[in-house]
Amino acid sequence: MLDLILRHCNLPDGRTDIDIGIAAGRIAAVEPALAAHAADEIDAAGHLVTPPFVDAHFHMDATLSYGLPRVNQSGTLLEGIALWGELKPMLTQDALVERALAYCDWAVARGLLAIRSHVDVCDPRLLAVEALLHVRERVRPYLDLQLVAFPQDGVLRAPGALDNLKRALDMGVDVVGGIPHFERTMAQGAESVRLLCELAADRGLRVDMHCDESDDPLSRHIETLASETVRLGLQGRVAGSHLTSMHSMDNYYVSKLIPLMRDAGVAAIANPLINITLQGRHDTYPRRRGMTRVPELLAAGVPVAFGHDCVMDPWYSLGSGDMLEVAHMGLHVAQMTGQEAMRACFAAVTAMPAQILGLDGYGVAPGCRADLVLLQARDPVEAIRLRATRLRVLRAGKTIASMPPAMAALDLPGRPAQVDFLRRGGGQ
Ligand SMILES: [Zn+2]
Repeated sequence: MLDLILRHCNLPDGRTDIDIGIAAGRIAAVEPALAAHAADEIDAAGHLVTPPFVDAHFHMDATLSYGLPRVNQSGTLLEGIALWGELKPMLTQDALVERALAYCDWAVARGLLAIRSHVDVCDPRLLAVEALLHVRERVRPYLDLQLVAFPQDGVLRAPGALDNLKRALDMGVDVVGGIPHFERTMAQGAESVRLLCELAADRGLRVDMHCDESDDPLSRHIETLASETVRLGLQGRVAGSHLTSMHSMDNYYVSKLIPLMRDAGVAAIANPLINITLQGRHDTYPRRRGMTRVPELLAAGVPVAFGHDCVMDPWYSLGSGDMLEVAHMGLHVAQMTGQEAMRACFAAVTAMPAQILGLDGYGVAPGCRADLVLLQARDPVEAIRLRATRLRVLRAGKTIASMPPAMAALDLPGRPAQVDFLRRGGGQ
């Protein structure tokens, strides 16, 4: 006996008019015209049903702090880091927890049910670590929060950072982070990559470093990250976040680098909203976009996810937890306008980050967890175009958020009384 059936679903892989049967919080069947009954049925009416959005790169310790203690005047990454440094001593655990929980409410409402968040460990009190470990447990029933021990001020550059990072891992933080381009020298950057990868290998953990978040084409720490991944047998467990310097690198060098990344099984995480905002700030015109080479990485077989990175914090004043907004920006910045490329942008905020995070039971297939999002769109491209309304968000088969369809009333002679912006029919 099934608990719930979603009828007439379109799926991200292009299948249409599919029924999804759910029992005991898991998907039991995915097939056309499912001959079964359930206690409850939902008619998806040809709308897209997708596994939840996944954010591979976020900063939940800084989110919703915009304006504290002041706003970023220059708009640069470096002023953002300095501003965060001013705010850090003023943080309280209650305020951190409250802001993080408020952001998780937004995330759930947007169908975003898994987030990898970096947490700054360059604070001997480890206040943010304690707060986010607490939040991870609080939200566990409805959101998978994975934490990265992130030495914001540089694991070698900041006194005590390595000890703090190790303590954070001892406390239960999941992933080893880093920021090699912020160390004092290129050599120290490379050294930081080496020691952090060794730490991850010793502890059996994944690695996700802020890597080469710079317009400097000679920032090449991704090369060391890939080579350490191979040396230590960490293939498939390492991600380079940002990699913006790759935008400015010499093409010949990139033709060697991308195969190195692919062979090392290193994933790339671009952050389109933030990269387009923070990079190119030292340029006049032409002004660089700064996002890493997403289509080329994908074409070579490197997994690529798009992260949100920031929402209303020292680096970015906008955002609302909407991964379709992230995909929309990524699509434009990377000029990924072909049909397949647009679908890849949808995958970059769903299946790809799920793979990078190593999420268990993610997908629309029998046996997967019944975490699903019903969108007011017929396919992934329309979902991105409309930043589609999340009509319903399911966690383990239970509805945990819903929103009425976006619909405008019209009063025009001879025209429809309502529009919802969906494309109707085919036509010539
Ligand atoms: Zn970041």
